[in-house]
Amino acid sequence: MLEETRRLLTANGFTEDSPGLLSHSLAHFTRPTANGAFKIAASWSAVIVEHVELGLELSRQQPCIGTIHRAFSVKSFTKALSSILAELEHLASNPDLLKCPECGERYVHLKEPTGMKKFKPFLSCGGMRVVRRSSEGMRYKDIACRGISRKIPALKEYR
Ligand SMILES: [Zn+2]
Repeated sequence: MLEETRRLLTANGFTEDSPGLLSHSLAHFTRPTANGAFKIAASWSAVIVEHVELGLELSRQQPCIGTIHRAFSVKSFTKALSSILAELEHLASNPDLLKCPECGERYVHLKEPTGMKKFKPFLSCGGMRVVRRSSEGMRYKDIACRGISRKIPALKEYR
């Protein structure tokens, strides 16, 4: 699926760059959006199940923001690509939709079950962990915000 993905993305204005250290993707592509702050990122991976994943990227050091679109076949990806790009452009132009409704500051990211856990994927603030010191000098982790966004879909899959 990689060669077809590469051809399709390149034909749609994406450029390929080197895979990030933090991601499991083996091929990574980006395309600018009308709102220059975000890029549309596409990554192909064969980890567990081969797939292509698209989302909005603020920087390579952070996970994608907002709705994640995941396609598992060339056929479904080819069919969905133009609507995926339109949806991501729409989000990039309306960054309020990407913000956490609780703190109103941070962007929301996809949270999905791994391993034996089972829950419906959702978009959360990222639950930024801060390390604080108690009066006794003990360090502990606190979750600054537990905000969850229901304004936009968390995950869309195409099979
Ligand atoms: Zn928040």
